[in-house]
Amino acid sequence: MEKLKPVATERRRQMRNDIYRYIFYSKEPVSKQQIANALNVSRPTVLQNLLELEEAGLVEMAEIRESQGGRPPAAYVAKGDIKMALGVSLSANQLKFLLSDLKQNVLAYKEIDLEYQTDSDVFAITEEQLEVFLTENHVDRKRLLGVGITIPGVFDENTKNLILSPTIKLKDFRIEEICKKIPYPLFFENDGISGGVAEWLSRDAEEKKKDFVYLFLEEGVGGAIFLNGAPFYGVSHRSAEFGHMKVESNGKICNCGKRGCLEAYCSALRLSTELGITIDKFFEDLEDNPEYQKIWEDVLEHLAVGINNLRLAFDCDVVLGGFLSYYLQPYMGKLKEMVADLSIFGEDAEYIKIGQYPRRAVMMGVAWHFTNEYIENI
Ligand SMILES: [Zn+2]
Repeated sequence: MEKLKPVATERRRQMRNDIYRYIFYSKEPVSKQQIANALNVSRPTVLQNLLELEEAGLVEMAEIRESQGGRPPAAYVAKGDIKMALGVSLSANQLKFLLSDLKQNVLAYKEIDLEYQTDSDVFAITEEQLEVFLTENHVDRKRLLGVGITIPGVFDENTKNLILSPTIKLKDFRIEEICKKIPYPLFFENDGISGGVAEWLSRDAEEKKKDFVYLFLEEGVGGAIFLNGAPFYGVSHRSAEFGHMKVESNGKICNCGKRGCLEAYCSALRLSTELGITIDKFFEDLEDNPEYQKIWEDVLEHLAVGINNLRLAFDCDVVLGGFLSYYLQPYMGKLKEMVADLSIFGEDAEYIKIGQYPRRAVMMGVAWHFTNEYIENI
């Protein structure tokens, strides 16, 4: 890949960036005329910028398919494989790696089961396994934009320290300690927020403007809020901690030490670690096992309370994500009925949706941090 030609003014750079981003975000290849119309610029300007972007290897001409109406005009697409970003999900039981190119195509994926980790050893394992993963997949480190790591925890907005992670039993952890040992740009984010970002990215420009909340269901329970076309993080970067919303006044003890949190009822750990089985096994046996049926009923009841609370607070779509949502599909009818019964407005619960990437959203969302930074700075 060649370097982009320097431009004389910031205004010129912004114009070239606008053209690049327009091509990048278009679902279909776009012609010069479409770009000129959409951005309200002249065709010669489009042509000159396209030439520079093409020379630098950032865009290319799409393959032209002959149609009955003759040859369609030349159309352009952004190239995906010139850079890549790695998303890592670190949780109590698993370490997951996902490598994606600029266009969110998954290039490689790996899951590693962990013994339950209670201290910073998890970071030593992450560091070691990260190099193993990159080597196994022959990753050209020069093309790697960075490594995004998600943790089920809350980060301090200023110091970037991990304030609290009940799920992996860490508190006040200096995240920069591992930054020293991993030789790539690093970014840390809460897993629920990262999952929500991936969901938001999967939407087209119009859909992105619609408000929604994302309820993330994995070993921990969390989420993300999207208002006015952007993520809403809150004053202390602690918004959407839906997992610790109380659903029983003196209920089951939660990982956070308090009682009756949504996470204590609806975490995937309840259906796996707490029963000494895998989550796949739980759902395989559910139909024939009355004990599992009782637990599942209880999960759905509390999930319904949580979803109804979110609807009351935000009055928008509630999107379910995280790997537990992958298993929820056959029970959506029942869940919607339970939620509708709780509604004070007598509305149905068609506002509940299942996310686009139930299993891989968190890694895609956190890797996006680097992709986005790259695209914005072209
Ligand atoms: Zn809690």
